Amino acid sequence: MRYLFVLLLALGMGSCQEKVKVDPLEKKEGSEQVITYEEYSGEEPTTPEATEVYEPVPPTVDPNGQDGAPSDAIVLFDGSDFDAWEMVSDSSEVKWHLNEDGSMTVKDKTGDIQTKQEFGDIQLHIEWRSPAEIQRDGQNRANSGVFLDGLYEVQVLDNNDNDTYTNGQVGSIYKQHVPLAKASVPSGEWNTYDIIYRAPHFNDAGEKIKSGTITVLHNGVLIQDHVEIKGTTPYIGWPKNPAHGKGPIRLQDHGDNSRVSYRNIWVREL
Ligand code: MG
Repeated sequence: MRYLFVLLLALGMGSCQEKVKVDPLEKKEGSEQVITYEEYSGEEPTTPEATEVYEPVPPTVDPNGQDGAPSDAIVLFDGSDFDAWEMVSDSSEVKWHLNEDGSMTVKDKTGDIQTKQEFGDIQLHIEWRSPAEIQRDGQNRANSGVFLDGLYEVQVLDNNDNDTYTNGQVGSIYKQHVPLAKASVPSGEWNTYDIIYRAPHFNDAGEKIKSGTITVLHNGVLIQDHVEIKGTTPYIGWPKNPAHGKGPIRLQDHGDNSRVSYRNIWVREL
């Protein structure tokens, strides 16, 4: 690879036409990757204006447009009602607890809930809290989860002084990706998840042609860095890759008195 790199440099110096530019600073030691800048070939501009663009113009978003949610976000839960949500089992009204402090809490063994609206690529903000009063251990301590497209779980768990398998710990893409860090606040305090989800693509035959990806910031700390979704996130068995289009955002009732609460849920379609 080094010889190719030298050859490209020699070509670049020897010819003014069809120049392939190689930035030596971008070639890391031992890397096989050679980064070229064909877009920037030709005569190098000599004025600042020559490298300025004015279109497209990005939209203006007020980051605090709606009680803390961005002005272009869809607010899915602001504490006032469950209008945007339904039970997964039969699409009936949500049976979870609606609290006076603007949050909701899992009502044990009533089942998962999901948004009525379906989404593709999204930026999701959601806040969650595990109870200050500790009960149980491992996967049975305040276990819930945020499922993208209703299929891919970002784990919610009280992991404070409570070890478990690391690909199932808080912030894991369940049984697929160990988080880069455990960034939880103390039990009983509110955590934030900011999730960027890119859905997988499928062809007409139902085959996956591009994997989805998930990025997660947990309380502002990067814990999942654009990881590739391998498929569904089952408790038992391999990931599966059923073809799907848009899907709901789903929140888990783990069925073991998790008492996990959520609040301030909004989404931006990407
Ligand atoms: Mg879970």
